[in-house]
Amino acid sequence: MKQFKTGKSFAKELDAADPLREYRSKFHIPKDETGQEVIYLCGNSLGLQPKSVRAFVEQELKDWQALGVKGQLHARNPWVPYHELLTEQTARLVGAKPVEIVVMNTLTVNLHLMMVSFYRPTPQRNKIVIESNAFPSDRYAVESQIKFKGSDPNRSLMELQPRGGETTIRTEDIETFLEREGDSIALVMLGGVNYYAGQLFEMDRITRSAHEKGCVVGFDLAHAAGNAVLRLHEWDVDFAIWCSYKYLNGGPGCVAGCFVHEKHAMNTELPRFSGWWGHNKETRFLMGPKFDPILGAEGWQLSNPPILPLAALRASMDIFDEVGMDMIRAKSELLTGYLEFLLDQHPNKSFCVITPKDPKQRGAQLSIRVEGKGKVLYDSITAQGVVCDWREPDVIRVAPVALYNSFMDVFRFVEICVSSC
Ligand SMILES: *Cc1c(COP(=O)(O)O)cnc(C)c1O
Repeated sequence: MKQFKTGKSFAKELDAADPLREYRSKFHIPKDETGQEVIYLCGNSLGLQPKSVRAFVEQELKDWQALGVKGQLHARNPWVPYHELLTEQTARLVGAKPVEIVVMNTLTVNLHLMMVSFYRPTPQRNKIVIESNAFPSDRYAVESQIKFKGSDPNRSLMELQPRGGETTIRTEDIETFLEREGDSIALVMLGGVNYYAGQLFEMDRITRSAHEKGCVVGFDLAHAAGNAVLRLHEWDVDFAIWCSYKYLNGGPGCVAGCFVHEKHAMNTELPRFSGWWGHNKETRFLMGPKFDPILGAEGWQLSNPPILPLAALRASMDIFDEVGMDMIRAKSELLTGYLEFLLDQHPNKSFCVITPKDPKQRGAQLSIRVEGKGKVLYDSITAQGVVCDWREPDVIRVAPVALYNSFMDVFRFVEICVSSC
């Protein structure tokens, strides 16, 4: 691990040595009322806009203006197959084969579609496992699927808890739990990175032990896509879903991603909710009555997709593809390690980090638990130009993002934070 030092000049040194330092200028950094750039540490909630987005979106506006419906086939990038432009880059991003990937809908919609296909409870095996502090939308979706399939969430929904006094869940505890309870579990459905505590789950180990007991494994990668190095195919994950407006910088409400492992993606017998965009492309426009699914993840598509958000996402995915997740991750570990180091210099302050200390078990984000007047501290740093977020009852989440945050951002954040305590 890198030896960090205190002091502003060290932040400058780290920035000067950063191989990704030019990428900051490829993004619009929001400014405060005085015209000063804010310290934006909220890319885990909404990623910043790449400057290249405008040209991508304008191309589609121009083609729509000039061509109307003819743009479906004759736009510079025809709209009918437009989503395919994102498939290969997305596959590289999450460690998948292109046939396992589709960019469609939004996250919670995709989660439901996946559970329609992959949560198939039987009387002996009907449980779904989630984290005790799962993102609310995931919990609502899971509960409603359990009810929809005729089971009772009080019996069929299980939650993984950290040990008493701990804030994150040990992988060995998950393995022991699966060993003990696995025979009654239909689906293990965890966040890749837990949104609250910032724990990056060891997805390969979890998938292996769940499969040993015959459970299906899905991950919600909302906080992992564009943040962690993923090998979904190799890890043998059954399905995964993620949104693209957090680390992936696709813009508010942008189109989400979905991974279906090859071994399922080609299986046309799986139950699914269908729509015309999932129909065999050769015969889709014959508009016949019988659904003939595309082989691969694309067969789960429902509707023709929104082109403007897809265009915005292409701008960002070009950047991810150019840099690659290995480079992004290398800087991210350094940036977050530096943040942790600076916070650790102030052991008497009223805050502590609840995110795992092991870099392999976290992404960019650190979750800082503040004793007592946490909200007052949050309001104070916000007034001083920091953008991060507050989670009830006592947590401030900060996520320095490798593509556009500097080490100086981190330094200034800690300085403001400490002086406001
Ligand atoms: C951000 C996030 C969501 C948001 O769901 P949408 O369907 O995109 O609104 C869901 N789950 C998790 C874990 C998230 O972090």
